[in-house]
Amino acid sequence: MTQVRTTCAYCGVGCGVLATPGEGRSVKITGDPDHPANFGRLCSKGTHLGETVGLEGRLLHPMIGNRCASWDKALDLVARKFAKTIAKHGPDSVAFYVSGQLLTEDYYVANKLMKGFIGSANIDTNSRLCMSSAVAGNIRAFGEDVVPANYEDLELADLVVLVGSNTAWCHPIAYQRIQAARAERGTKLVVIDPRRTETCEEADLHLALKPGTDVALMNGLLAHCRRAGLLDEDFLARSVSTPAGFWEALDDGHDLWTVAKTCDVPPVDLATFYDWFTSTPRTVTLFSQGINQSIRGTDQVNAIINVHLATGRIGRPGAAPFSITGQPNAMGGREVGGLASTLAAHMDFAPANVERVGRYWAAERMCTKPGLKAVDLFRAVRKGEVKALWVMATNPAVSLPNAARVRDALAKCEFLVVSDVIAETDTSRYAHVRLPAAAWGEKDGTVTNSERLVSRQRAFLPLPGEAKPDWWIVSQVARRMGWRDAFAYDRPAQIWREHAGLSTYENKAERLFALPGHTGAGNDVYETMAPFRWGGRPFAGGRFSTRDGKAGLVRVQQMAPVSRREWPLNLNTGRYRDQWHTMTRTGLSPKLARHRQEPLVEVHPADAEPAGLNNGDLAQVVTANGASLFRVAVTESQRRGEI
Ligand code: SF4
Repeated sequence: MTQVRTTCAYCGVGCGVLATPGEGRSVKITGDPDHPANFGRLCSKGTHLGETVGLEGRLLHPMIGNRCASWDKALDLVARKFAKTIAKHGPDSVAFYVSGQLLTEDYYVANKLMKGFIGSANIDTNSRLCMSSAVAGNIRAFGEDVVPANYEDLELADLVVLVGSNTAWCHPIAYQRIQAARAERGTKLVVIDPRRTETCEEADLHLALKPGTDVALMNGLLAHCRRAGLLDEDFLARSVSTPAGFWEALDDGHDLWTVAKTCDVPPVDLATFYDWFTSTPRTVTLFSQGINQSIRGTDQVNAIINVHLATGRIGRPGAAPFSITGQPNAMGGREVGGLASTLAAHMDFAPANVERVGRYWAAERMCTKPGLKAVDLFRAVRKGEVKALWVMATNPAVSLPNAARVRDALAKCEFLVVSDVIAETDTSRYAHVRLPAAAWGEKDGTVTNSERLVSRQRAFLPLPGEAKPDWWIVSQVARRMGWRDAFAYDRPAQIWREHAGLSTYENKAERLFALPGHTGAGNDVYETMAPFRWGGRPFAGGRFSTRDGKAGLVRVQQMAPVSRREWPLNLNTGRYRDQWHTMTRTGLSPKLARHRQEPLVEVHPADAEPAGLNNGDLAQVVTANGASLFRVAVTESQRRGEI
């Protein structure tokens, strides 16, 4: 059987996989030793990918209600309902909710249909939940959503700071690369996280800060660097705009003692971190959900970037702020404009961009303003303002916050389409039409990982039943809505060329995101495409994607904590190493279930004792938004007063 080079379906590390199909649908999975993200390593989820390619629970035929239907009938119905709703209530009465599980080509077509032809920007993605703060922070600081780091920087750094990231569990191969570099060159590792996670076990220092105080911690670090005379004044003068009053705002309340008190960390540990940082030019600050997934997310991102800009630790080997993505193709989604707040190819809704993209697409009805973001989108569905919704490759009934309200919205939606690989998900049970999508191993296209490395996902299994790739399904609906020529795709390579073409169209180096070598890539070139990283070492010349070429420091202040006296405990959330994406796929692997068999509520002994809780008990956790039952784990890895 032929070995196929492809990419892991799970996290944003984007590891290369060698898949060797065997009898039936069996497949042998190993790490690809030549892939630059993992060099042959795989974590437990990647290793057990072969256990999740069976047909158990698959959606194999289009379904209208609970009846099988032909593709023609189902696609006609979707096109007709969307067209009718738009004709009656306008383009903003429909929406797509998509996913970082889609391939770039799928994402591109869905975004083009919604923003260029339907005429609304009501397309948002589940990646909104995990990294839209990083997108907004990057745009504020750099003028473009560019992650200015490569994995190699983790190996070239002398200090790696992990903020709000349980990297050992959530990005295991990136963590292994850090550990290998530590063994080789003695890199120091600092973890900043309220919880003592598995990532802290090997760390040189763990700062268990009070949740939500990251801005104070980073502003304090910046003030410390300034007091120590370690700002990069040349870089600041040449490459960075500093808003009026920026430094004065750091004068008050950012001494070591005040910051230690605000963050509730020992002053001696804080001083150690600040000293290590100031004395180590090669520092990478890697962050993920603990920073991004917060009402203060964007400010927290900019507080980190500010420190790197002011000390010139960007665009140089081993020195960068590094937001690591959650899903395999969160980054590809960002490149095509899969967020309601961006247009396409790293362009925003400035009139010149709208006009440019419209011209490139020969679009009939370009949207001119941002659309509804995930949480607002489901609110609008619940209020009946969005009447037709298409959910692709995601399970918002479980994964969005305030899930009960999301379920209510789905139940009230006049017309809900779900395209997925799984027949019965918590979301698809509300669907009027279910469309069977191709799964990992069957679909073909590209993904972009956290370090802007584009890799091919390749098919090595036949499409089962009547399943079809997402780009095909969306294109078919678009054609039936009257846009035959604009969606006349017959293969992903064709979409890839168009996407690459848009990235370079009238782009006179204003946008770093550009794929110039790919606009004319033939089908055979696409077929054999090796992984490549766009952007080189971003901002190496000290020039950013703003009009004057300068990055911007952003004034951010620590907000006062929300006081909820009636609630005695603070709830924080994390995730387990071996499960993924509401378990719709990883839940199929018995071996992955061995790691953790059920979700736990972790409680500090000093909080467990007065509540009469022991290890293994059941406890009901009640919040302002709902209640849930968990098995108790009593552990000192939680801060007191937090669960
Ligand atoms: Fe897959 Fe992420 Fe594990 Fe790599 S680290 S094998 S991409 S889940």
